[in-house]
Amino acid sequence: MARLSAATYTFPQMGTDLQFAVSRIASINPATGEVLGELDCAGPTEVRAAVARARVAQIEWNAWGIRSRVKILRHFQGILLTRKHEVARRITQEAGKPYVESLLTEVMVVLDAARFLIENAFSILREQKLPHGNPALKAKAGRILHEPYGVIGIISPWNYPFSIPATEVMSALVAGNAVILKPSELTPLIALELQSLLREAGVPDDVFQVLPGEGPTGAALVKSAIDKLVFTGSVATGRRIALTAAERLLPVVLELGGKDPMLVLDDADLDVASSAAVWGAFVNAGQACLSVERCYVHQKLYAPFVEACADKARKLRVGNGMDAATEIGPMISEQQVRVVESHVDDARSRGARVLAGGTRLRELGPTFFAPTVLADVDHRMRVMREETFGPVLPITSFCDDAEAVRLANDSEYGLAASVWTRDRARGESMARQIQAGTVMVNDVLSCFSISEAPHGGVKASGLGRSHGRWGLEEMVRVKYLDSDLMPRMKKVWWFGYGGEFTLEMEGFLDLLYARPLREKMKAAVRSARAVWRRKL
Ligand code: NAD
Repeated sequence: MARLSAATYTFPQMGTDLQFAVSRIASINPATGEVLGELDCAGPTEVRAAVARARVAQIEWNAWGIRSRVKILRHFQGILLTRKHEVARRITQEAGKPYVESLLTEVMVVLDAARFLIENAFSILREQKLPHGNPALKAKAGRILHEPYGVIGIISPWNYPFSIPATEVMSALVAGNAVILKPSELTPLIALELQSLLREAGVPDDVFQVLPGEGPTGAALVKSAIDKLVFTGSVATGRRIALTAAERLLPVVLELGGKDPMLVLDDADLDVASSAAVWGAFVNAGQACLSVERCYVHQKLYAPFVEACADKARKLRVGNGMDAATEIGPMISEQQVRVVESHVDDARSRGARVLAGGTRLRELGPTFFAPTVLADVDHRMRVMREETFGPVLPITSFCDDAEAVRLANDSEYGLAASVWTRDRARGESMARQIQAGTVMVNDVLSCFSISEAPHGGVKASGLGRSHGRWGLEEMVRVKYLDSDLMPRMKKVWWFGYGGEFTLEMEGFLDLLYARPLREKMKAAVRSARAVWRRKL
């Protein structure tokens, strides 16, 4: 994979003296091995300094107000639309995915997330009245304020190197935060491109800063004086970050891995569902958190379904993502190819049938793996338990809906799932029984492009949400502001207690909550005097 300048390459060993042995990273095109650029890693000192600058800059940024920040987002959206070709090309060069996927799953997702924030940020974040239901507290005006955290740290992965950080950065910024982004060491250049687009749109330099680096730079950011962290990446790193964050109760959003099941019911359209399985498992060479990683098919459809998938997988064109005919690009690194190989080998040795692919495509380069369809898999196999994150579609059968739900839920992950059926009500009923942050009926993955929809998982797939109203609300603290409308009056419940007051208050509770009107009336008489009693 040769991600780092060779002379200084050392695997980052968290918590050891080697942490900052690597001071430069190289961005490499995974399809060709070409070095696209080399960058210095930010160390703890640079991270601390960046956070300090951001803290100062955030005060004025917040004072600009939401409407001014929305204007900047609109400007950013316009610039991005004009530059879509060069941004998408840069994504394909750095991450390998086909250019058309860079346009649709990265640039378009960001354009639409900007659209959502432009249309909705003000109404979601503006001050809101909070009416009170308790009659005892009616003489008060309650309001909800949404205040920015201050400085938000964002740590992002390489698989969607533009759309993941950009959607989170835009939400954090529009809410009035300053942001420090630590992008993946494998895709730093596209993060720097995001930085220059946002700065060109009018975001001040210290309000949004990108700090390139590996794990230790991320760890330094977690330990810095940031006010909240939004992390997207693997479960292992997420757990490590959550432990560090817990020491100082740093709030975190964790968007982690998935092992998404696809359930194909006996009434599903075989041709449509098999095409969906193939696209869902192989888009971005299977390196999507929402990839179809487990496929369960009703026994009635199983044999023709696996054949259809294998047939479609064999037809896919694998190559350099810059070639317009390419459907599957390279994997991000040879290390990732080895993980995929080990899952396929383990499945094969335990009795799975390899119906398509199953091997590297060495003639194309060290990072290419053939789209692979495995049949007759089971839950003892790593390919059905661990995140494969590669172009592998493992398929098995089930006999009834209850078994399908049980198999779908038999996983430590819970990011997303899909159910395939001609009967929408049946699909939705099963969706309610599946433990996942999102369940789609008759589609896969496209939920990520719905800017209104929340994105996030349950179980080991994470905490909190990104995207939509819920992603925006992660970027603000909720403050309750309350003004008393009768400031010259002492409150009924203040000191000056006694036996009579106790009886009056018993009556008061009956007045508020007793059911028959007769009881309420009696209670009103019993409790009314409390208003005029002498208070301390
Ligand atoms: P990763 O966990 O290896 O790295 C993610 C980021 O964390 C990188 O920027 C990395 O440098 C940084 N990092 C590594 N060690 C760190 C540490 N100790 N402290 C702080 N930061 C550290 O994940 P990856 O390989 O880049 O991405 C793939 C994973 O991300 C997969 O598991 C995938 O499912 C998951 N993912 C999840 C979502 C989601 O929305 N749920 C989206 C995309 C990817």
